[in-house]
Amino acid sequence: MKTLYTIFVFLFFLIVTAGCGAKHSGIGGAAGDATAATLAANKRFARMTGSAGVQDDEEARRGFIARPSGKITNAQSAVLVDFDAFAFVAGAAPPTVNPSLWRHAILNNRIGLFKVTDGIYQLRGFDVANMTLIAGKTGWIVVDSLTCRETAEAALGFARKHLGDKPVSALIFTHSHIDHFGGALGVLSPEEAAARKIPVIAPQGFLEEAVSENILVGTAMGRRANYQFGITLERSAKGLVDVGLGKFIASGKSGILPPTVVIRQAEEARVVDGVRFVFYNVPGAEAPAELTFLIPERKAYCGAELLNRTMHNLLPVRGAKARDALRWANYLQEALEQAADAEVCFNTHNHPVWGRARIAEFIAKHRDVYKYTHDQTIRLINAGLNAPRNRRPDSTAGFACFVPGRPRLLRRSAP
Ligand SMILES: [Zn+2]
Repeated sequence: MKTLYTIFVFLFFLIVTAGCGAKHSGIGGAAGDATAATLAANKRFARMTGSAGVQDDEEARRGFIARPSGKITNAQSAVLVDFDAFAFVAGAAPPTVNPSLWRHAILNNRIGLFKVTDGIYQLRGFDVANMTLIAGKTGWIVVDSLTCRETAEAALGFARKHLGDKPVSALIFTHSHIDHFGGALGVLSPEEAAARKIPVIAPQGFLEEAVSENILVGTAMGRRANYQFGITLERSAKGLVDVGLGKFIASGKSGILPPTVVIRQAEEARVVDGVRFVFYNVPGAEAPAELTFLIPERKAYCGAELLNRTMHNLLPVRGAKARDALRWANYLQEALEQAADAEVCFNTHNHPVWGRARIAEFIAKHRDVYKYTHDQTIRLINAGLNAPRNRRPDSTAGFACFVPGRPRLLRRSAP
């Protein structure tokens, strides 16, 4: 088993750091000013985005406890995270940035430790994903362990400083993407997990999919991720301002802990360190292996990555498996019922949503985005068109949700 950890650590290190080096201001090293066409497009977009966002900003701030400062460095003193790097993201959108992206980037700038509800906390901005801590009877139940060991250690250390030094009593991986498990060894060592019999919980197919995606095609995907997430761009209004799901992807040492508890049923209730969970397997939508869950006693629902403050790409640029939009919409239809009594919906990226009516609206609008995309793509393919572009249904208006692209007509195929 030790060999497995070593192989993962080595290969993930290569993958995550592939292409990383000096920060560039743009392709060829020089990012330009906004052209007249960009300025006109951004102006049009500003009118579409409007002034919505007061409620989103309140939600992004809600439960704030503390904000980290300074930097996270690795053993060689290289800077992996600079908590002040995005301080320039404030005020009105600069000419080079889409106004909707800018507004979203400001919301994602609300980083730190937050109380979600009694006994549930989130660390946001230590990496691209969130780490969630759930108070169990004997320690912290950690949900997702970020991309790399360094950021996971820093996040957990920050939480312990402010919430008390409790041990980890369980680790839950919501899905098989590296930003949710790569920092596992920063949360728990294999020796400690084995000695204290700490459950490592994951959805059906987790380990197989993590290996298939991150090792078999990992080198190519790591390279392409540089284009999708702008990993090597400088942090500036002409470089990286946000990646939608969070501020940036951290590059450090990644590894994995094989699960000791696999959720195999479509719906499976389990007690974890004294807390009752109802897990739901949702494979083949956002990730090939993924789970969501409800904690009934705390009226809290976790939508994992089925629900974010973004619309996901269905054919990921970095080369992750294509997502089934219809299946995704069906899971969200089921989520409406699963989360019907929840007072908070927290997810593995971005900030939560509170209140039953707001949660129902949030889930329903996400469902509509994926169902509409599926249905209209099928309809127009059958009508002989191709090259579909992103378009969101009117029913999704009013939520903080950055969607790249704007309504366009599809192009008719050549006969
Ligand atoms: Zn993620």
